[in-house]
Amino acid sequence: MQQQLQLPIYLDNNATTPVDPEVLQAMLPYFTRHFGNAASRNHSFGWIAEEAVNIAREQTASLIGASTDEIIFTSGATEAVNLAIKGAFEMYSSRGKHIITCATEHKAVLDTCKHLEKRGATVTYLPVDESGIINLKILEKSIQKDTLLIAVMFANNETGVIQPIETIGKIAKERGILFFSDATQVVGKIPVNVEKYGIDLLCLSAHKIYGPKGSGALYVRRKDPRVRLIPQTDGGGHEKGMRSGTLNVPGIVALGKACEICKRKMDTEALHINTLRNKLEAGLTTLQHIYINGANTQRLPNVTNISFDQIKGNGLLTEISKTIAVSSGSACTSANPEPSYVLKAMGVSNELAKNSIRFGLGRFTTEEDIAYTIDTVTQIVASLRK
Ligand SMILES: *Cc1c(COP(=O)(O)O)cnc(C)c1O
Repeated sequence: MQQQLQLPIYLDNNATTPVDPEVLQAMLPYFTRHFGNAASRNHSFGWIAEEAVNIAREQTASLIGASTDEIIFTSGATEAVNLAIKGAFEMYSSRGKHIITCATEHKAVLDTCKHLEKRGATVTYLPVDESGIINLKILEKSIQKDTLLIAVMFANNETGVIQPIETIGKIAKERGILFFSDATQVVGKIPVNVEKYGIDLLCLSAHKIYGPKGSGALYVRRKDPRVRLIPQTDGGGHEKGMRSGTLNVPGIVALGKACEICKRKMDTEALHINTLRNKLEAGLTTLQHIYINGANTQRLPNVTNISFDQIKGNGLLTEISKTIAVSSGSACTSANPEPSYVLKAMGVSNELAKNSIRFGLGRFTTEEDIAYTIDTVTQIVASLRK
């Protein structure tokens, strides 16, 4: 069945996703009819809200192989990252003040680590190879007597490159070090199981999985070991005292629903999106002198990050963006494009990193979108090479 092509095309699903209509339907009653405060214990408005939150907690836990009492709802992944890293550091700093992380982490992790360096933490930023993967030998050598936390993301938001999480989990467990993984890009796209991967702390975000912005969660392991965190927000003692503040019931209901849909659709959806992603890569490869970043390693099914060589000027992203929403993967102003620190850590030159584009496919990407993107990008690249 042919679908009508709608411009502009959205291929920035790693930045955010549209809310799935099914998710929207699920959350709407909790703004109006069921507006109660989930902490109100003595009337039905509160009970209905609380029950909805309980269901969302089950749905969220179920997607990552956790139990419901291990889920702390937050305003998103950034808040969850801050609670995990700062909360663990403050709780366990008498044991040690050393944190190991990775050069290609999201800014939420890097800047939280930078902040803790001012508070007495020492931080090792692991390098990555040209595929974007950390070296496990370097990780093991970096471990010190006072290492308290290893924070390595499950998959990178700019390239989709997946880290050897299971092995990192084993190494951390053997040494009695906590393991935090930012799985914001991964949850809902490929199977994640905190037991299998030996993860102690994990963050996720609704708006990356077809839920609304401003809703997310932190997984906090309850046994083997029981992880405790110093709260970063004090108040009414919500979320087992780890995150005070009236619960965002509609956002939480939406996150739960988004998780439930992902779990239900994951296998077929990942296959479908991966087929489209491979078509896009194959279609663009007819252009010479392009490099798919992280091509030789395991990547998420929905994203491709491509460096276009021999481009004249700074116009590539601007030209593509006229009809296709993509990203350079890094924060930049059009006047002064800062090359991506993720690509630079992978050894990509400044020049090439400036001409790199992240294409992020999603649930609503169509065959027609990909065909249009191949044609358009091919034409733009050809004309910028003339
Ligand atoms: C989007 C993202 C975040 C931040 O999530 P928010 O919910 O927007 O705060 C953190 N880490 C990764 C890897 C992300 O992709």
